[in-house]
Amino acid sequence: MKPLLEYPIENGRIVTRSLEAHIVDHCNLKCAECCSLSPMLPARCVTPAQVKADLEAALKVVSPTYLKLVGGEPLLHPQLMECIEVARPLANILSVTTNALLIEKMPDRFWQLLDGLTISIYPKPKLPPTTLAFIKRKAAEFDVELNLKEQSNFVQMTRWQAPAAEDETRDVFAGCWLRERCHIVDQGRFYMCTRPPHFDSFNGGNTKYLDDGVVLDERPTLVTEVHQYLTREQPLATCYRCLGGFADEKPHRQMNRAELIALGEISL
Ligand code: SF4
Ligand code: SF4
Repeated sequence: MKPLLEYPIENGRIVTRSLEAHIVDHCNLKCAECCSLSPMLPARCVTPAQVKADLEAALKVVSPTYLKLVGGEPLLHPQLMECIEVARPLANILSVTTNALLIEKMPDRFWQLLDGLTISIYPKPKLPPTTLAFIKRKAAEFDVELNLKEQSNFVQMTRWQAPAAEDETRDVFAGCWLRERCHIVDQGRFYMCTRPPHFDSFNGGNTKYLDDGVVLDERPTLVTEVHQYLTREQPLATCYRCLGGFADEKPHRQMNRAELIALGEISL
């Protein structure tokens, strides 16, 4: 899957496929090669007010078909319902992406407000058949489109040890499908992929990775700037530490404590 990079502008906004808001950074799993770096990040819950402000700012510039609330594990957010409530009127198609370990605690209102639910299903821990049956029953009852994603393998995306050379990074960036499918808004910035804000958080904040995003404000040139940003040929700073969507795969597994500590001592 190559990036399409065709971004027509209609009614003053750039037509895109999807826009994500990662409403928590932490997770109740520790998947190796988590592309959000979730097992290595400090806990963070984005306030519903920030979610609303971020989405409103981004949606002045882009017009996505799908609006996705993601994490980390979004069902850990203590104000998840408030986050969904603020996103609902802004979305064409609203979905949540989850590992579903907490799905049976969700109120009916959760199901009422969503158009779609993407469930990541891992070999371990395996979702109990009763949970899967519950999900299918609720989705049918509330007309929620289910996307059950079996993820037995994970792409090894992160270059933990050393950044790549310029030529290699350009090649990875040129062929990276994630830059077209994984746009994200976070803390007032729009990014073409979800990785820069997580790399920033991993490194303690205020890093060069934030500059991979476009600051969303009221300046009149913003749509043009975001369009140029989405179609640029220059890789992001983050790309030098990333292998994109076509990297080698490894079987999915949960990391142990020693691995997590070791990774936490490596700066990207
Ligand atoms: S469930 Fe998803 S967010 Fe959580 S660690 Fe695994 S890949 Fe990352
Ligand atoms: S950091 Fe670069 S290579 Fe990695 S997913 Fe984003 S755009 Fe692709």
